[in-house]
Order: sequence, then structure tokens, then C-alpha cells
Amino acid sequence: MDFVILDLEWNGTYSRRLKGFMNEIIEFGAVKVNEDLKILDTFSALVRPQVGKKLSGKIKSLTNLTNEELACGLQFMQVISRFNKWMGKAVLMTWGTADILALTENCKYFCGNERVPFLKKYVNLQSYCEDRLHYDVNKRMGLSTSAQLLGIDEQSFEHHRALDDSMLSLRCLQALYDKEAMKPFIQNADEKVFYDKILFKTVVVCDLSNPLIKRTDLMFNCEFCGRRAHRESDWVLKNKSYRASFLCRNCRTRFYGRVQFKLKFDGLVVKKTILPFKEMEAKETPTVIQTKEIRAVARDSAKPKEGVPAAKTAKLPKPVRAQERSIPKEKPVDPPKAKEVKVKPRYRYPPKKKAKTNSLHPRGN
Ligand SMILES: [Zn+2]
Repeated sequence: MDFVILDLEWNGTYSRRLKGFMNEIIEFGAVKVNEDLKILDTFSALVRPQVGKKLSGKIKSLTNLTNEELACGLQFMQVISRFNKWMGKAVLMTWGTADILALTENCKYFCGNERVPFLKKYVNLQSYCEDRLHYDVNKRMGLSTSAQLLGIDEQSFEHHRALDDSMLSLRCLQALYDKEAMKPFIQNADEKVFYDKILFKTVVVCDLSNPLIKRTDLMFNCEFCGRRAHRESDWVLKNKSYRASFLCRNCRTRFYGRVQFKLKFDGLVVKKTILPFKEMEAKETPTVIQTKEIRAVARDSAKPKEGVPAAKTAKLPKPVRAQERSIPKEKPVDPPKAKEVKVKPRYRYPPKKKAKTNSLHPRGN
């Protein structure tokens, strides 16, 4: 089994036909390796733009490509057909799924194909490398970050050119490769569910009456004594998550509970965070305890039911895809690290007697 690591460069451009923005692929770069990751061959091709005839300034400076160079490129369809032949039955690998999204978009636009012809088996190298490096599951690891963590000298690669980026991805893979560990990452990409998953847009649920939300999602336990805390305020929606203040009637600890609901393809992701009471007001949000639960849901339950207003179920995404997708390609950048300081709550009083507390204040949220 051979692997092909593919990287694409694209240019965000307006399409009159689509009446919106699209990411038009301008360069293919790929390296083919065998099962032991020995290089067998490389592929490199420029694509003559047909939608956006002029490169954006950002892409020009990012890639050092010129409009003149691209004008000598092949048509997208020709490149697809050559790449398809060159790739054979190899497993396709890309760093993150952004390139797959761009491929899907371009194949649909230029060929009317809903699927990418050479996409049969697929590995998301980013997921594989994140897993091998035990990277924070809540974050995405950019290619540069990965190279840095692995001590790979990026300077020897021409960044943001397709072939070089595919080579850099290969170097990361070589540093972390294990035949057995790779196996579960090989996905069958020749089926509808693969595309459904890739094209799925995560929705933040901003409605507490959503039937996917359980009552217990809104309950918080005291991090000191473990008792269920009493909610003292209403839930307030801020930055796409809900917050309320809580009091532990057992040990008198006061804190903020924050909960966020994200509807992903695999289900509802519930992220709960406990924040110290005072620090929150000072606009600092050190994370004390964070739990995350992914609850599988039936695909249909996410969609608004007939006869039920959309607001009662998941708040559906605004049609922002075109806008989002028009952003020129940049490998994902890791967000600034959240402070993970353990702060003792300021409002902590000697615990009351257990029995008394329980009888006076039945526990609830
Ligand atoms: Zn307590």
C-alpha cells in the first residue's frame, strides 16, 4: 500500500456563477511514498485560474506565485485527470481537511462531480500527528507547530508552496510513523457519509430549551466537596456559552459554571468549565476544571422538526460558508494558550454541618 501526501494552494475569489466566494485551487503538490515512507515520486502542477484571473495580494506574497506563472498552468480538469493516473490506488493524505473541502468544492464547480475521483482511502495527517503527540484534543495542530514540536527545520522548506508543504508533512509523518498506529486512521472516503462529515458545519447551540440538552448538563458539583451546587443566578449567554453563578451550600464555595453546547457531526459536545467567582469579574478566566462529553445523537434530531420552530431545536448556521471559505488559505494557527492556573476561591467559608445543610436545602441546581 502506497501513500500520497497532497497539499494544495488556493486563491479566494468571487464567482459570478455561484454568486459567492470560492477557493479556487491554483497548485497541486504531492509526494508518493511506500509503506515504509520511502519516497517513490513527486507530483507538482500549477492550475490556470478560470474564476479569479488575478491572485490576491495575500496569496501572491504567501506563495510567491505570479499571475504570469499561473497563466501557463494546466486547466483544473487536466490536473485532476493527471493526478488521478499518477496516484493510482494509493491512500490519500492531507494535513487537515481544508484541502479536501477545497477539492470537493472545485470538483463540483469544474466537473459537476459531487465526489473527488481519486479519493478512495483517506488519512487526515493532522489528526494522526495530534494523536501521536498527545496534543490537546480541544485544539488543532498547525503544520508549523508540528514541525517545531518535532524539531524539524522548517527553513529548509519553501513554506506555502504545495510540494514543499507536502514534503514537510511527510517529514512530520516520518517522525511519528508506526504502521499499526496508522491503520485506524485510514478512512474509507468513497462513501456519502465521508462527505457529509467533512462538509458538516459545527453549530453552537444557543437555546437552553433544545431537546438535546439534558437537565444534568446544567448542574454543577462543587469542586471541593463534590456536592451538587445551588444555582444562584439565571443563565446568561456570553461568547456562545452559558454562565451562571453557583453556591455550594455545604462548604459555602461560590463559583461560576460555564457550559457550552456544540453540535458536531458525531453528536452534541458538552463542555463544562468551573470558573473562580471573583476572577471572572476581573475578566480573567482561568480554567479550573473542565469536563467534556460527546453525546452521540441521531443525525435527524439535530434538524428542526416539522411543525417545530427552528429556534426550539438547534440554531442553524447562517449561510456564511461562502464568506468563510473565501479566506485565503493559511494553515490553522494554534490559538493562544488559555491560562491553566488553579486559583483558590476567595469565597470559601468553613463547612456547615452536613446533616443540617441537607435537611434545610435539598440539593438541586
Ligand atoms: Zn462544597
